[in-house]
Amino acid sequence: MAFKRQILNPRVIEDLKKRSDIGIVFYLVVAGIVLLSESYRSHHPDFSKLFLFSFAGICLFRIFHLSIAKWMQPKFEKFNTWIFVLSVCLTALIWGLGFANFMIHEGDLYAVLLMVMCTVGLCSGEVVAFLPYFRLAIVYSFLALVPAMVGMLVFKMNVPLVLALGLLGGHLFFLARNGNREYWEARENEYILEERSKALEKMNRIDDLTNLYNRRYFDEAFSFEWTRSVRNKTPISIIVFDIDDFKRINDEYGHLAGDQYLTAIATIIKNIFKRQTDITARYGGDEFIVLISNTALENVSMLAEKVRLKVQALQSEYEGQALQASISAGIATCVPDQKDKPQSLILKADKALYQSKANGRNQVIENC
Ligand code: GH3
Ligand code: MG
Repeated sequence: MAFKRQILNPRVIEDLKKRSDIGIVFYLVVAGIVLLSESYRSHHPDFSKLFLFSFAGICLFRIFHLSIAKWMQPKFEKFNTWIFVLSVCLTALIWGLGFANFMIHEGDLYAVLLMVMCTVGLCSGEVVAFLPYFRLAIVYSFLALVPAMVGMLVFKMNVPLVLALGLLGGHLFFLARNGNREYWEARENEYILEERSKALEKMNRIDDLTNLYNRRYFDEAFSFEWTRSVRNKTPISIIVFDIDDFKRINDEYGHLAGDQYLTAIATIIKNIFKRQTDITARYGGDEFIVLISNTALENVSMLAEKVRLKVQALQSEYEGQALQASISAGIATCVPDQKDKPQSLILKADKALYQSKANGRNQVIENC
C-alpha cells in the first residue's frame, strides 16, 4: 500500500492542484460579494479593505504560482507542493480570521448571514476539492472555522451557531476521511488496471521465451510497413531464419537446453538488426523473421550473413555441455505494388530458406 502511494503521489498532487484551481476564483468572487455589500463596508471600512486586499493577494499569488509551477515541474516538485500547501493554509487562515472578525463585531444581519453561508459553502467545497489529501482538507476547515468559534465563545456570542459550526466541522471530518479512502482506492484500482493492461499489451506482442516480437505483432507491423512501402515506392525485405537440426539439440540435451539456445540466437538477431525500423520476431518454433525497410539487398544479405557467422561461432553452454548448431536463411526483397500481397514476400523468403536447407544448410540464399 505504502509503495503504491509513493508511485501515485505525483499524480495525486497534480490532481489536487487541478481540483483547487477553480476554487481560487470562487473565493475572490465570494469575498467581493460579502465585503462590497454596501452596509458592511460602510460599518467596517478598514477591516473590509484589509480583508479584501490580503485575501485577493493570497489568491492572486496562488494563481501566479499554479501557472509558473507548471513549467517549473518536475525539478521543483517538492518545493512547489510545499508552496501550494502553505498558500492553501494561508488562504484558510485569512478567511478564518476575517470570518471571526465578522462574527465578533456587531454587524448587519444580512452581511453576517451571507458570510456564514459562504464560509460553510467554502469549507464543504474545499473538503471535496482536497479529498486526495485528508490532512489538508481538515486543516483547511479548522483554520476557516475555529477562529470564529473561539471568538464567539470568548465573547459569549451566538453559542448555538458555534455548536452548529462544531457539528459541521465534525461532519466534514468524516466526509473527508471516507472520501479520502474512496479516492485512494479508486486511484489504486486505476493504477492496477493500467499495469494489467500494459502487461496484457506486452503479452500480446512479445514472445515469452525470446523477448522478440511474436508472430501476431509481426504480421500487423508487416502489413503496416508494406502499405507504407507501396505508397513511397521503397524496397522492403524479409529474412527468414531457421536453426539447422534443432531437434537434435532438444533430443541430445533436453528441451530446456533447446530453450536456452533459442534465446541465445534471438539475442544475436536482436543485436544485429538494431535500426528502429527493423522488426525482429520469433515466427514459430525455431524460426525467426526480420523485416527490413528501405535497405539495399546487398546490405540485407550482408546482415543475414553476419547472423549466420555469429551463430556458427556461438559457444553456448548448458550444464557444462557445449551446444553447437548453425542457421539457414532465406531472403526476399521487392518494391511492392498495390496488387501484391504481403504474404507473397514471406512465401518467397520461405522458398529461399527451403533452398538453403536443400543445398546443405548453414547458408543464406536470396530469392529476388
Ligand atoms: P531443419 O534443419 O530442417 O530445420 O531441422 P530441425 O531439426 O531444426 O527441424 P525443424 O526446424 O522442423 O524443427 C523445429 C524443432 O524446434 C521442433 C521442436 O521440437 C523445436 N521447438 C519448437 N519450439 C520450441 C521451443 O519453444 N523450445 C524448444 N526447446 N524447442 C522448440
Ligand atoms: Mg529448424
